[in-house]
Amino acid sequence: MLDEIDAVDWDSIPGHPDWYESDRAGLGLRALSEATNSVQAADAGSQLGGGGIVHGHSGAVFPAAAVAAPLLLDIAQQGHPAARDTALGLLDEALSCYPHAEYTRVQAPDGTAVPICCAIAHHLRDRTDFLVGLGKRGKYLLVDAAAHWRFEICECVADGGDTAAFGILAGSLPEGVHAAEMHHAGAITVLSELGLEYPSAANSRESCLRVFARTPDELPPNAVLFPAECGNRLH
Ligand SMILES: [Zn+2]
Repeated sequence: MLDEIDAVDWDSIPGHPDWYESDRAGLGLRALSEATNSVQAADAGSQLGGGGIVHGHSGAVFPAAAVAAPLLLDIAQQGHPAARDTALGLLDEALSCYPHAEYTRVQAPDGTAVPICCAIAHHLRDRTDFLVGLGKRGKYLLVDAAAHWRFEICECVADGGDTAAFGILAGSLPEGVHAAEMHHAGAITVLSELGLEYPSAANSRESCLRVFARTPDELPPNAVLFPAECGNRLH
């Protein structure tokens, strides 16, 4: 785990210069992964929560939190129980804090700039089995993560003046009409109105959305949608 933490160049991750302290991110994660009691875990947690990945007092989250999320989940899975509690608390905090202007997104492997909260939620969903196995606490984290839904378009069909978009939904899209940001080929387009046409069948993530006043050619396959409100979250 230490190799993976050290492999990250925390200095190169952008963050508000007055608030983000890259040293605290790397050292805090290192200390948390090595913690063998609750005092050490708390010390590591205060490095991470005091400028490393979030600044808890002011309620700000940094892009480093999204990079740290899978490492915190590794610590939660493999570390001391006190380190696990600290790691889960930090993930919870990172998901609920808001980012500073100009430092609101992280680069996904495909080049799209995803809101920090949605990137963290994606990592949490990746460890669903582990989190469910933790009981209440893990399940609450997954419920929080579900609000940061993600929909990948597979196929679209015109329907009146609208488009029915078939694809894969992760997380849960609440009922009603929502705005979304669509990521495709490095560009972001805002879709001002869409809603769930019909929900996923049991044990399936295949869903259908109705995208109002858009044609199928505006909604290319493999485009990924995120809640527009996440892209607008600002500290
Ligand atoms: Zn989000």
